[in-house]
Amino acid sequence: MKNIYLVANWKSNKTVSESLEWIRNFKFQISNFKLNDKIIIILCAPFTISAVLQEEITKLHLPIYVGAQNLSLFPSGPYTGEVSGEMLKGLATHCIVGHSERRQNFGETNTIVNQKIFNTLEQSLVPIVCVGETLEEKEQGLTEKIVEDQLKGSLKNITKEQMSHILISYEPLWAISKGDGKGKTATPDDAEEMHIFIRDTLATMYPTEERENFSILYGGSVNKDNVKSLMQKPNINGYLVGGASLDPEHFSKIIEAFSSYV
Ligand code: PEP
Repeated sequence: MKNIYLVANWKSNKTVSESLEWIRNFKFQISNFKLNDKIIIILCAPFTISAVLQEEITKLHLPIYVGAQNLSLFPSGPYTGEVSGEMLKGLATHCIVGHSERRQNFGETNTIVNQKIFNTLEQSLVPIVCVGETLEEKEQGLTEKIVEDQLKGSLKNITKEQMSHILISYEPLWAISKGDGKGKTATPDDAEEMHIFIRDTLATMYPTEERENFSILYGGSVNKDNVKSLMQKPNINGYLVGGASLDPEHFSKIIEAFSSYV
C-alpha cells in the first residue's frame, strides 16, 4: 500500500497562540482513533509560526511534518522580506511551490516555479508542486493543455532521481474554496480522470519510471464529507486541504476517514 499524503495548507492564517491551540486540540482529536501509519500528515504553516509549531509537535510526539507554503526565488542575501530555502532548513521538511494563489496574485510563472523547485530540492526539502486550470480555461476545453504546460514548464530539467522526491498536487482553481473549504469540488470521476492524465504526462516525461511511483494529490474544497468518495479513486495519492484544515476537529475527521480505509 502506498503512502497517502494529507497536506494542510493554512495560507495566511493563524497567530502563534491560535496555532498552539490547534495543535493541542488536534492531539486530543486524533487520540480518539488509531492513526494508520501509511498516512503522512504535513502541516504547511506560515513562516511566522513554523518554529513554534515544530517545537510543540516534538514536545507532544505528534506524527506531523511541518511544511512551508512558499520560498524565495533567490538564495540567502540582500532580498528584504524574502525567506530563502536555506532559511527553511530545520523548520520545514516540505514546501508548497506554485500554488495557484501565488501564480495568480504574485505572477509566478512556470519558469519561476521551476527555479523554486530547484531551490527546494537543493535544501533537501520535498516540493509539493501545484498545477491546475482556471474556470475560463476549463470552459474553453483547455484543461489538459494548461496542466501539461504547467507540468513540463515547472519540471524542466528535473531528473528522474529528483522527481522521485516531488509531490504533484492537482488543484483546479474553480474548485478552491474562498477559505472555508466549501467550494465546488471536482467530482471523484473528474478528479480521477485528471490524475490519470497527469500520470500519463509524467510517464512520457520520465519513461523509465514506474507510473505508480508518481505521487499525485488532489486539492479543491476537500472536506470530511466529500473525501469519502474521493478516496475510492486509485490514482489519487493524497489531498491538499485548505479551509477545512483550519479546524483541528474537521481535519482530524478527514484523517480518521482514511485511517479506517487505507
Ligand atoms: C488550496 O488552496 O490549496 C485548497 C485546497 O484550498 P481549499 O481546500 O480551501 O479549497
